[in-house]
Amino acid sequence: MSRSVLVTGGNRGIGLAIARAFADAGDKVAITYRSGEPPEGFLAVRCDITDAEQVEQAYKEIEDKQGPVEVLVANAGVTKDQLLMRMSEEDFTSVLETNLTGTFRVVKRANRGMLRAKKGRVVLISSVVGLLGSAGQANYAASKAGLVGFARSLARELGSRNITFNVVAPGFVDTDMTKSLTDEQRQSIVGQVPLGRYAQPEEVAATVRFLASDDASYITGAVIPVDGGLGMGH
Ligand code: NDP
Repeated sequence: MSRSVLVTGGNRGIGLAIARAFADAGDKVAITYRSGEPPEGFLAVRCDITDAEQVEQAYKEIEDKQGPVEVLVANAGVTKDQLLMRMSEEDFTSVLETNLTGTFRVVKRANRGMLRAKKGRVVLISSVVGLLGSAGQANYAASKAGLVGFARSLARELGSRNITFNVVAPGFVDTDMTKSLTDEQRQSIVGQVPLGRYAQPEEVAATVRFLASDDASYITGAVIPVDGGLGMGH
């Protein structure tokens, strides 16, 4: 059965791989993008998730063109790395505003239709560093840890409405976000990963698709690592 799926930040990186995985399975997929030319094959809606009005407009367009969102993947996210002593309040709040408050916005809006349909699947993209911590990423790690409390609260609040909320916590994935790391940093990271390599975006996408599938009907409030073993024990 073809469902109406929304992937925020589905225009590139992990989000694009997730969007492709759903489209390949026959779902109707909408993606958000902020600028430039979005990839073809999806309903591309221009939307910055830090802007409530743009989020509302995006949902209206999606509802109009492919129906209420039945599967939401909140993937859009940013980093602004800095050591605490050099981290400005803006560095902190802007990352929280996108990764946590932006996710709140898109989840809240999706829930309207899910409550009406009496079913829904929500998958939030967190990170291994939300649980493990990461020097120089206090803002990012706090936002990603926040997603866990957010998802688990909603899993309790809306479980009786047949809506599941799960979190995927990737390790290091080969995308634009990790391209800025130096070769030395990459070597050091890979040295700590039991599987000894970065993930490909498609490996994260497969887990997201599973969590949105019938096979995951009894899974909610879970945090699933896709990190090559980097965060084991957390
Ligand atoms: P990229 O930097 O490649 O892509 C980020 C995506 O988020 C882009 O599509 C970007 O849109 C979108 N985005 C950022 N800010 C906003 C905003 N305000 N409104 C709408 N969209 C926005 O990142 P990845 O693909 O690597 O990461 C995707 C998710 O996975 C993120 O949440 C990230 O934190 C998480 N993650 C990534 C890891 C990695 O190693 N790469 C590891 C663990 C988690 P635009 O093109 O318009 O900029």
